Amino acid sequence: MTTISYWEQQGFGRADWVVIGAGLVGLQSARRIKEIFSDARVVVLDQHALGNAASLRNAGFACFGSAGEMLDEIERTSESDAVGLYEKRYLGIQKLLGRYGAARIGFQATGGTEVFSDCDAEEAVRVFDHLNGLNAMLRAVHGKESFELCDTSAAGMNVLKTGVLSPLEGGLQSHLLYKAVREDALHAGVEIYEGMRVLHWEESSDAIRLHMASGLVVECSRLLICTNGFSKRLIPDLPVSPARGQVFVTKSLGVLPFEGIFHADKGYIYFRELGGDRILIGGGRNLDFAGEETMEMEVTHQFRDYLKSYLESVVLPGRVIEFDYEWSGVMGMNENRNPIIGWHSDRVCLAVRMGGMGVALSSWVADKVIAVIEKDLGV
Ligand SMILES: Cc1cc2nc3c(=O)[nH]c(=O)nc-3n(C[C@H](O)[C@H](O)[C@H](O)COP(=O)(O)OP(=O)(O)OC[C@H]3O[C@@H](n4cnc5c(N)ncnc54)[C@H](O)[C@@H]3O)c2cc1C
Repeated sequence: MTTISYWEQQGFGRADWVVIGAGLVGLQSARRIKEIFSDARVVVLDQHALGNAASLRNAGFACFGSAGEMLDEIERTSESDAVGLYEKRYLGIQKLLGRYGAARIGFQATGGTEVFSDCDAEEAVRVFDHLNGLNAMLRAVHGKESFELCDTSAAGMNVLKTGVLSPLEGGLQSHLLYKAVREDALHAGVEIYEGMRVLHWEESSDAIRLHMASGLVVECSRLLICTNGFSKRLIPDLPVSPARGQVFVTKSLGVLPFEGIFHADKGYIYFRELGGDRILIGGGRNLDFAGEETMEMEVTHQFRDYLKSYLESVVLPGRVIEFDYEWSGVMGMNENRNPIIGWHSDRVCLAVRMGGMGVALSSWVADKVIAVIEKDLGV
């Protein structure tokens, strides 16, 4: 016998569209669905109130891939695949800026810098040697130079004097972006319900019945799944692995000798100045890929010590670092870095697997999944 009341069950009614996942992808997609089906009842369900989505647990980098990451991606896949992924991320950031404006999402066009420690000297040479080729390849995306050599000496870091600047990148304030996206969805008439963990669903010829952990059953005509790193819980054979990312923010350090966002160790370590006096640092998954393939939102000693030591030896050599904030979030990953967008069945559509740069991808993905829906439903 369920403990859900008759009134709760009746009160929820039936939705035309249910979107599972109130992250950046789910909310932007829901808003776009409401735009094309203006009379439809569009409902977003999420298991958690705000906090557990990667969308509020990320580093706020508006980035497309450092030169080192691009070279790795080309090696792993192909030139056209790597450029395609870069383009999606670049266009995604332009869409966010176009929709919400830089001020509303706290975007600052600081550029992103890839730095190299002494032990990465070989990698630095590999990257420097390929910059012209990468720029030529990526010019088709935006007609500009993606990478240029820069002098990092003024930052006071224990890194090679020469780094690589990505002038088109920047940082944003993740809470402002999330707020803007959520407000716009609500404003468009999307209903958002938290505390709604979907366990499974049944699909029939004219409806989908979603079963919540609470016992509530929600009925809808169509379903869009935007659960990213948590997707395997709903569809176990989906090629999306959870990948935990751990993030730390220092106590106030006084005025910092640098600003902007930084990539190191082929993108596995990332750090940025926050509020002028703190540093956010994250990453290091290459320490233990297998251990970090988890949905458990924990912070571990191993990663805390590793990233603290990186700050003390490389970023602010000689300083003693203490953290004020530490958290983790779950990304959706696979060997194939492209998102999965499309129909899973007649009534169920997917927009998952955002990889490590899903902030950048999110608005591109929302537009893409809507294009698929529009085309296939003949709107
Ligand atoms: C530590 C970290 C740092 C990152 N840094 C950056 C960065 O600097 N720049 C960048 O571009 N990207 C970054 N990313 C990636 C980016 O944050 C994500 O790719 C993006 O936010 C994914 O958005 P989403 O909406 O697809 O997923 P999410 O934001 O994860 O949202 C999915 C939602 O689905 C809900 N959900 C899951 N299962 C269920 C269920 N069964 N029932 C109900 N609800 C469910 C979850 O509660 C969650 O709210 C980072 C990610 C992490 C973890």
